[in-house]
Amino acid sequence: MTERIQAPRGTFDVLPDDAAARAVVEREARRILEAAGYGRIETPSFEATELFARGVGEATDIVQKEMYSFDDGGGRSLTLRPEGTAPVCRAYVEHGMHKLPQPVRLWYLSSFFRHERAQAGRYRQFWQVGAEAIGSDDPAVDAEVILLLAELLDALTVRGLRLRLSSLGSPGVRAEYREELRAYLRQHADRLSSEARGRIDLNPLRAFDATDPATREVMAGAPLLLDRLSGDDAEHFAQVRELLDRADIAYDVDPTLVRGLDYYTRTVFEFESAALGAQSGVGGGGRYDGLVEALGGPPAPGTGWAAGVERILLAAGAPPTAPPPVDLYVAYVGDEQRAEAFALTGAARRAGLRAQLELAGRLRGRADG
Ligand code: AMP
Repeated sequence: MTERIQAPRGTFDVLPDDAAARAVVEREARRILEAAGYGRIETPSFEATELFARGVGEATDIVQKEMYSFDDGGGRSLTLRPEGTAPVCRAYVEHGMHKLPQPVRLWYLSSFFRHERAQAGRYRQFWQVGAEAIGSDDPAVDAEVILLLAELLDALTVRGLRLRLSSLGSPGVRAEYREELRAYLRQHADRLSSEARGRIDLNPLRAFDATDPATREVMAGAPLLLDRLSGDDAEHFAQVRELLDRADIAYDVDPTLVRGLDYYTRTVFEFESAALGAQSGVGGGGRYDGLVEALGGPPAPGTGWAAGVERILLAAGAPPTAPPPVDLYVAYVGDEQRAEAFALTGAARRAGLRAQLELAGRLRGRADG
């Protein structure tokens, strides 16, 4: 027998029942985000590799080992998009959106690609719904994007949610802090996991994500970036918190929150769900005040988030799977009625009815008997 070809590891098929649940995610995202002034954007599935190297950061796991990059045949390196913020910022620059009233508010629902270790809730092609507000550094914009994600997750009945919130300050302070943390980690290197030890130079903040108990013990005594914020950054963060308080959004300030992308400045946040296993992050984001400029655009601060569609569905209550209702069901007896049944179904559809034609051949045999 010929060997069966299967879908690549870490990918999945979206079957009709799954598609119905996903359509609800899209419908609710459109309803909530478009009402708040966000317009839909879709960028290409692949981009110049340089966009992610510069945008996401050379030192990140994504750029170091998770990108599907390929030569386009003309000596140019392209990459299947691993995330949506850098492409949206690229489009903002490319289409001169800085000339529009700011902030420019955009949302997307697209698939993304990361060469990760595949497991439940972690795939190599996955879908994200995301929102970006570019062109304002107002803390109200941070609070608003968080509010919108909270509203979306609530509308989709995602269970067991917890919001973690922190601030990464500005790049200068972060660079100084990184040195301080490196020195601390070197001092305790003998107690760190080999993974954390290996990252001291490239990405020391990731040690806060460690699951290894000894590393966690070391990190419990580590200096915190949140204690090093400049006056302006601390004030910005205080205003974000105040606005969230006013909107009755519960959150935990978590100074150990580290996001896997380098472009973040100031506010960072992540929604986790207790209904998920090890991969508990449902959606997260933050502010990226230097990203547009790093991509060759004008100075334009921005903030946004992305949430995983598969994780939303895993953490949600029962997904809606009812088939769409039918107004008219056309069956025919004998092949001589087939043309008439076809015509009738077509006419019914043109008249606005949801018409389905019997195709399983269940009645056809009877006329012959
Ligand atoms: P990130 O861009 O890494 O901040 O991811 C944002 C959200 O996308 C996460 O909270 C997850 O819900 C989802 N996500 C990220 N990576 C994956 C993956 N490999 N498989 C499924 N969902 C993912």
